[in-house]
Order: sequence, then C-alpha cells, then structure tokens
Amino acid sequence: MSQVITILQLYPRDMNIYGDHGNLLVLTRRLERYGYEPKVIEYNPGDNFPAKVDLVVGGGGQDSGQSKIQDDLLKIGPQLKTMAEAGTPMLMVCGLYQLFGKFFKTKDGEIIKGIGVLDIETYGKSERLIGNIITESPFFGQIVGYENHSGQTYLSGDTKPLGLVMLGAGNNTDDGHEGARYKNVIGTYLHGSVLPKNPQLADFLIKQAIISRYGEFTKPPLDDSLAEKARAAAMKRPR
Ligand code: GLN
Repeated sequence: MSQVITILQLYPRDMNIYGDHGNLLVLTRRLERYGYEPKVIEYNPGDNFPAKVDLVVGGGGQDSGQSKIQDDLLKIGPQLKTMAEAGTPMLMVCGLYQLFGKFFKTKDGEIIKGIGVLDIETYGKSERLIGNIITESPFFGQIVGYENHSGQTYLSGDTKPLGLVMLGAGNNTDDGHEGARYKNVIGTYLHGSVLPKNPQLADFLIKQAIISRYGEFTKPPLDDSLAEKARAAAMKRPR
C-alpha cells in the first residue's frame, strides 16, 4: 500500500481565485507520480480541524471573503501556528498570505485580523497592483505568476522576503520584495496558479511534507517539459 500524504486546503469556498485551485492539482498529481497517495481535506468555516496534516495550502479572495473567514481562522490559528513552528510546509497565496500575517487593514479602513504565523502587516491602498510578475528568489530561483491585490505588505523580524521583483510590483510599491518565507511557510501574491509554472516550489513543499512524515525523500525523475513550456511562455508575457 502506498504512503499517504494529507493536504489540508483552507477555505476553498471563500478563498480560491485566479486559478489557485491549480496548486492543489499540481501537488496531488506530483505526489501520485512520485508514488504517494495524496489525501485532500477541504476545510471551510465550522469544520473540525483534522488531527493529521502534512501540507497546508490556501488561496486568495476578495476583502469580503477574508472578512467572512476571519473569526474561524482566528479559532484555528493556534493549531496552524504550532504546525508552522514544527516545520509543516504551507503555501498561502494573496488573501490568505495576508491573513497569515498580523492584520490586513482594507482600503475602507476595516481591520481584518490575521494569525501572526508570518511577521507581516498589510495595508489596502486605492491603487490595485495587477499584472504578470517575475521574481528572483534566493530559495527557489525565478518564480513567475500573476498578481492582483490592493493590499501592500511589509515584512519584519524572522520573516524573510521570498524574492526580489524583476517585473511587476510584489509586496508593495516601496521595497522591491515579493512574498515571504518563515521556516517552511511560503506566502506569495502570485496566482496564475503559481505551482504549475513553478514546479521547483511544488517539489519543495512535497519534499518537506514527505521528510517530516516518512523520514526521507529522493525525487524520482519526472518529465517536466510541459511545465517548462508553460513557464517559458509566462516569462515572455508583458506586464
Ligand atoms: N482582497 C485582497 C487584496 O485586494 C486579496 C486579493 C487576492 O487574494 N487576490 O489585497
């Protein structure tokens, strides 16, 4: 029987836009091709928080969606924080990236509280940052995707930028950084979805999940020619 890796998808009903569901498809398909059995648990407000989770993914959403899940997220925040401290790999895109930080103050002045896994603060501005984006990450090389957000995010403490912006805006219009990393938690503004065009990021999450659950992982060979083509095409797009 193959070994199971459990993926928790946070709030697919409210936080899942601009193709973010593709991240889950990439993780499950790659796990299968590496010989593991992916098990996906969808978590929506009011659900029981599962006891055993190897990898957590979350997507973006409208301000209203973020406001809607806020209370529930604050309830499960301590569990997510404990898991993050223990090294559980997590990928949080845009809206949930913001709420894995301390807060998101929307452009209308509403404060949506976050769970503080990442040492970041986000402020909504009237200008939306929209378009294709390419970054250079010290951890993962070039990352390509699409951004669309009003929130501008500022990092501090042990939370490090995921990358430097080569094309586009990223976290804010001031410091040239995109995304954040703390331990194995990755936050990013990149939709598109991000993992199909950046398989190195998918493999990082998968590797951490398998090592924590089963002790070791040697990546079997995989034909990534389609991902490479998609990546090359995305890199050539104008802003
Ligand atoms: N509502 C948030 C913002 O506008 C997040 C947007 C998103 O997830 N794309 O900044």
